[in-house]
Amino acid sequence: DLHPVRRALISVSDKTGLIELGKALDQRGVEILSTGGSAKALREAGVAVRDVSEVTGFPEMMDGRVKTLHPMVHGGLLALRDNADHVAAMEQHGIGPIDLLVVNLYPFESTVAAGADYDTCVENIDIGGPAMIRAAAKNHAFVSVVVDVEDYGKLLGDMDQHNGATCPKFRRKLAQKAYARTAAYDAAVSTWMADAIGLEAPKRRAFAGTLAQTLRYGENPHQKAAFYTDGSNRPGVATARQLQGKELSYNNINDTDAAFELVSEFAPGDGPACAIIKHANPCGVARGATLTEAYAKAFDCDRTSAFGGIVALNRPLDGATAEKITEIFTEVVIAPGADDDARKVFAAKKNLRLLVTEGLADPRSPGLAWRQVAGGFLVQDRDNGHRALDDLRVVTRKAPTDAQMADLLFAWTVAKHVKSNAIVYARDGATVGVGAGQMSRVDSALIAAKKAERMAETLGLPAPLTQGSAVASDAFFPFPDGLMEAAAAGASCVIQPGGSMRDDEVIAAADEAGLAMVLTGMRHFRH
Ligand code: 5GP
Repeated sequence: DLHPVRRALISVSDKTGLIELGKALDQRGVEILSTGGSAKALREAGVAVRDVSEVTGFPEMMDGRVKTLHPMVHGGLLALRDNADHVAAMEQHGIGPIDLLVVNLYPFESTVAAGADYDTCVENIDIGGPAMIRAAAKNHAFVSVVVDVEDYGKLLGDMDQHNGATCPKFRRKLAQKAYARTAAYDAAVSTWMADAIGLEAPKRRAFAGTLAQTLRYGENPHQKAAFYTDGSNRPGVATARQLQGKELSYNNINDTDAAFELVSEFAPGDGPACAIIKHANPCGVARGATLTEAYAKAFDCDRTSAFGGIVALNRPLDGATAEKITEIFTEVVIAPGADDDARKVFAAKKNLRLLVTEGLADPRSPGLAWRQVAGGFLVQDRDNGHRALDDLRVVTRKAPTDAQMADLLFAWTVAKHVKSNAIVYARDGATVGVGAGQMSRVDSALIAAKKAERMAETLGLPAPLTQGSAVASDAFFPFPDGLMEAAAAGASCVIQPGGSMRDDEVIAAADEAGLAMVLTGMRHFRH
């Protein structure tokens, strides 16, 4: 049923739109109760308000920890207006009904994001606000609850449509949003605490997510979709600034994430690096003396696939590299910055999306990764495992040269970001063949080699660049066959986790083929 709004309680941390709302309610004859700061702001703007402390008969106390936690407030929010007992209780205790609650909470999430200390974060956990929101939302049969500044206009619109009352459909929508807000709020608190005490995925029990953006559609046009942020505020697609181009799509976001996470493996001190991604897999990754060279080398790994790709750079985009990138169609470019020349070049390509981040992501930092299955979702630590030179064990008669070792580590780093089964051939700091997502490791090795052959034809090279390359496998070779495919493609050295029952056979095969092989003792499945 329609329910008239006669009495409102306003208690907001974010005072945006407060005065306008207060005036509009005042004009519509609504009595306004309010807490300290909100009341002060309204009063100063000439809006008639009553202090909540006057209604409760208690002052706000304990630094605001206790302001509205009182039966005069909660009784007014929770009483069923059509229940004789409830009405009698209201009369007996002099509790006036509250028909409208407008609350936005202490800014806990942004306090955490700003890097505040522990005690400051604790002090920013709102208690009375969520209590009132939950009470009002429960009693949505009678009470309207507004938790979002963006809904002020809709509230007034609904009231004006119904002669100062709100309709049940609107109140239900508001109540759902209210519970979504308190759920997300408490999830943010529990996530922050889990981070603070270093809890691992199995012990966290709840996860935070906040709607950041509604997307045009999902993976396919018939799927609705949205982008939620987890509040971790790390450099990446979720926090990047879009400087130009069309709106990001679902697939763009997924691929841009893959691209940026991969390129972030190459710290600025390692020199310029570039990753080109298609369908969440790299189709070219390279380091170069310049960013332009890194892009060109990455592009030359697989020019066909790079068309319509996502490009990630490990340093600010410059004009020359921007020129080179715009020679073909690219969906998204993400980099930790873009200089004026680059922006000028891109300005001519209106649709090209340019995202800039605050620095690179830290590939070693802890974090969580989710994956959905029917009926639930899996949560694990993000793959922040790392292998340095000292961790590698040479198992063949031949040991890799320093140059080979550098390419092995490069190929290994890229393989971590390729869907399993992953086989990556690299030479001179660039991928020259990527085999991704095959159900057999042999096929991944073969496909990568075939692609390298095709590129050799395109580039007019006498032989595919897999000749003399370093090859990485994301998991062990269960049999020598995959390794032999790599040898047939011309690989000269191999990096792989080891740990197969048949390691001895695989090592013997490598020796026989004259390959140098190192084991990492760590695998990088990516399914
Ligand atoms: P104001 O600026 O009006 O003084 O405070 C508004 C904020 O106080 C709102 O964010 C609201 O959620 C919060 N709040 C209202 N009542 C209580 C309470 O009893 N305890 C706490 N901790 N916060 C409250």
